Amino acid sequence: MQNNQSALVLHSGGQDSTTCLFWAIKNFKEVRTLCITYGQRHSLEVEIAQKIAQKASVPFQVLDAGFISTLADNSLTNHTMIMDQEKPADTYPNTFVPGRNLFFLTFAAVIARSHGIQNIVTGVSQADYSGYPDCRDTFIRSANTTLNLAMDEQFIIHTPLMWLSKAETWALADELGVFDIVKNNTLTCYNGIIAEGCGHCPACKLRNEGLRQYEETKN
Ligand code: ZN
Repeated sequence: MQNNQSALVLHSGGQDSTTCLFWAIKNFKEVRTLCITYGQRHSLEVEIAQKIAQKASVPFQVLDAGFISTLADNSLTNHTMIMDQEKPADTYPNTFVPGRNLFFLTFAAVIARSHGIQNIVTGVSQADYSGYPDCRDTFIRSANTTLNLAMDEQFIIHTPLMWLSKAETWALADELGVFDIVKNNTLTCYNGIIAEGCGHCPACKLRNEGLRQYEETKN
């Protein structure tokens, strides 16, 4: 029997998934986090995710899925590739890791099932999806149906950020009372620099532009 008061949060230690972690803590009685590594350049992510889970007093689990980096080349795991700074007109940026969110949701569902957890929370966003197809709502709904059929369960995948811009995600963190934690303790930067990051990679540009917009509306 699945417990509908409990949630598993896919947590990378970044702005989005950390905001989702605190959203889940507000909305569910029991929360645990799952941090999945996939051979990305910066192992610091795990340490950061663990510290945030400790701060939030929730159980933390790390899963090594490093084999994902051996399946196909992308610039998040291949150190010799130069990272695309924006989406090319005809294809996906080379920061796209094919299948990543499908793998992640599948691992999350198996682990959630083993704990009797019904709810799975992920920080994907269609509004700011950088061209990645596995961040879109239609994919998440389809994956939800597939996982329920695969395990004969009634998982509910929650995507609190699906329709939020980055500025609105900052607003949500503020509403949840964790603006400073998200601003100072998370790692979003593709170059592995905590908080405001390197400032020039695509992830930093999105995060910092959203923060600037949000702070402007506040003042
Ligand atoms: Zn950066």
